[in-house]
Amino acid sequence: MTKIGLEIHCQLTNLESKLFCSCKANYREFGINENICPICVGLPGSLPRLNQEAVKKATMIAIALNCSTPEKIAFFRKNYFYPDLPKNFQITQLNIYGDTSIGGAGSIMVGDKKINITRIQLEEDPGRLIYEGSSSKNLITLADYNRAGTPLVEIVTEPDFESPKQVRDFLNILSDLLENLGVSDPGLEGAMRADANVSIEGGKKVEIKNIGSFHDLEKATHFEITRQESLHSRDIEIIQETRHWDDQRKITISSRSKEEDLDYRYFLEGDIPWVTIDSEIKEKLKSEMPESISSKKERYVSKYNIPGQVADVLSSDKFYSDLFEESHTESNAKEVANIITTDLMGLVDTREKREESKITATHLKDLADSIQSGKISRNSAKNALHEIVKTGKGLSQIILELDLGNVSDESELLGIIQKVISEEPQAVEQAKSNPQTINYLVGKVMQKTKGKADPTLTLDLLKKQLG
Ligand SMILES: [Zn+2]
Repeated sequence: MTKIGLEIHCQLTNLESKLFCSCKANYREFGINENICPICVGLPGSLPRLNQEAVKKATMIAIALNCSTPEKIAFFRKNYFYPDLPKNFQITQLNIYGDTSIGGAGSIMVGDKKINITRIQLEEDPGRLIYEGSSSKNLITLADYNRAGTPLVEIVTEPDFESPKQVRDFLNILSDLLENLGVSDPGLEGAMRADANVSIEGGKKVEIKNIGSFHDLEKATHFEITRQESLHSRDIEIIQETRHWDDQRKITISSRSKEEDLDYRYFLEGDIPWVTIDSEIKEKLKSEMPESISSKKERYVSKYNIPGQVADVLSSDKFYSDLFEESHTESNAKEVANIITTDLMGLVDTREKREESKITATHLKDLADSIQSGKISRNSAKNALHEIVKTGKGLSQIILELDLGNVSDESELLGIIQKVISEEPQAVEQAKSNPQTINYLVGKVMQKTKGKADPTLTLDLLKKQLG
């Protein structure tokens, strides 16, 4: 049986500052080595100061993943020499004097499958190395320390995954959860990275390092399973090793032998005191946490009668559920949900399109209310939505400019209905004996008005005309 375990590194991108200094957590907007200070590059004599907000956010992640949370947390130095690590050690966590990592054992359901979380650690991100030249021939390596010290949460799972598809489903759920918590923006480049360990029946465990995106994680695990199965089928031993994911060639390559924990010479970080997170603090944090995705979904179904599948899509994406929360009322909720899931999601299906989109909650509310009051048809609303996303103009202006308003003037509509009646004598006779067939005539009226006849009024008037 295939076994896959994950170590996911997630940056707390929504924080103001780095984990141990006041440099910006959002290093992406800076020129190379412009977001650094003596603390994050580890100059002699500098002292780290723990970012309390990072502790809070990481604890929220632990709570959301149903992890145990210790009363006291501690930080450790993990010593290794690598050019992206200016201090020559990384401040991280370790469960050696009891459980002192920010989160202990937990679990999360992926469909019917329970994925167990081993632990969650809060640690600092190293810097970035930039290679000049091609991947086969490195001429020079440059170090950018803007990222060094960025708050990072490491989520370690048990080897519970049985397929790359399960891995992908888990990652989708996890990134939705982190985004909903407001702790991270998983879409940012480098915000989510992962290592994976993969083994097949009878084989040794192989670790794959440096997988730069969730998309590649599925590919890397898939490649590794195929590679191991191929070795196994030819009776070649699968050795325990660390492999590197080459994201250009989409293959794994054997790299350095894996260090054991002993090699890192972990010891307590004496410059940061143990931090107490007692039950009172935990309760307060819980009360500050946003509503969970599953609870939102339940509310949408039970309170507004929104179909389960629609509620699922709506609640799991923070961008859409925030829009929904701001725009819906008790009476238009179903209509708003319908507009978002059937039309808006197709229009703004990428990050860029979302960012460029001019739509606001007011637009959505106006659209839903106008459909419900018969001011515009669903079809016209779709056209209006296109224009709103593009221009951000108000709905009433768009209705005027594009002539999208429903024909709801009684005398105008009556004229059209009488014309249809005279043109369709056979259908009129049929509708008189079998009222169900009246929809055919409604359809004809719609045709003549290009879908803009107020449907309720049309039906009323037609019924009256047919006596
Ligand atoms: Zn700094």
